[in-house]
Amino acid sequence: MTEDAFEILEGQRALDPLTAVLRKETIPHALLFTGMEGIGKRTAALALAMACNCEAPAGGPRDSLLSVARCGCRSCRKIRSDHHPDIHRVAPSGAYIKIDQIRRMCRSLALKPYEARIRVAILAGAQHMNPEAANALLKMLEEPPDRTVLILTAVQAADLLPTIVSRCRTVRFSPLPKSRVREILIRRYGLPPEEAASLAELKSGIDISENGMGPKEWARWRAGILHICADLSDPEHPRPPGMLLAFAEKLSKHRDILSDSLDIIKTWLRDLMVCRYAPDKLINRDCGPILQNLSRKMTVQSLLSKIDAVGAAQKALVSNANPRLTLEVLVLRLSRSEL
Ligand SMILES: [Zn+2]
Repeated sequence: MTEDAFEILEGQRALDPLTAVLRKETIPHALLFTGMEGIGKRTAALALAMACNCEAPAGGPRDSLLSVARCGCRSCRKIRSDHHPDIHRVAPSGAYIKIDQIRRMCRSLALKPYEARIRVAILAGAQHMNPEAANALLKMLEEPPDRTVLILTAVQAADLLPTIVSRCRTVRFSPLPKSRVREILIRRYGLPPEEAASLAELKSGIDISENGMGPKEWARWRAGILHICADLSDPEHPRPPGMLLAFAEKLSKHRDILSDSLDIIKTWLRDLMVCRYAPDKLINRDCGPILQNLSRKMTVQSLLSKIDAVGAAQKALVSNANPRLTLEVLVLRLSRSEL
């Protein structure tokens, strides 16, 4: 991770309680960082690992989770580049964090640290632990290893076993302001301002996870979906069923971002509605002219029923309906010119 990646933490209130425990040297055995994806939970966990093990003298960068990001000491450099033997990182492999991953972590934590003052194990996306993995972790939390801090990250505490949550000190991370998301997307990822603004409306964070899409890939994915939406929305040019089903298949193949994809479609329909009355309130501002043109051809009634169709598909997917079928129904409903 580069030093720049830590800028996501600027202004994050969740750092206050962490800095306080750091200064008092009263770091709990287990911490749970909660909040939306992409708002810096894992980055903060790394910063904490660096601050706990920084070799700079007291009163230096180690007193602040923001300044430690730029510390050049040996330990901080090792942690930043993921080469420190005592900093363990576990993330879902596939859909779940599996029991083998937790066992492997517990085995290394049972040994003495190699060089760290305080070892840190970061369990990212802890809501993806399967029940066996969660139980193995629970055993470890009951008898925490020496000189070790375990940091779990999750979207919300309610997604974890209450017995795990009660053994952790929870720290809530706030979403990033849209203006910051926009600014980071432009400066660090080189997105054009209009596109960055649209993305910032959709996302409250910058997803830099190893498994997930980076902002650039995400921007490309969004552009692809909007392009097809524009195609489907034109009542004067109905599309052949084969093309519609291919779109459904494309969406269903990307299960990990399916809910984001449906959100993108929803913003498109919402914009078609809004652009007649308040063109300055568009989410997909970079598509303004296309939206204006299409919205003149569609009735409010038809737009409302399409928005309903997306809502129904989202509901069905949450209750484990077959994704492919659900999406096929959705796409067919979206393509009907009048309902
Ligand atoms: Zn350092």
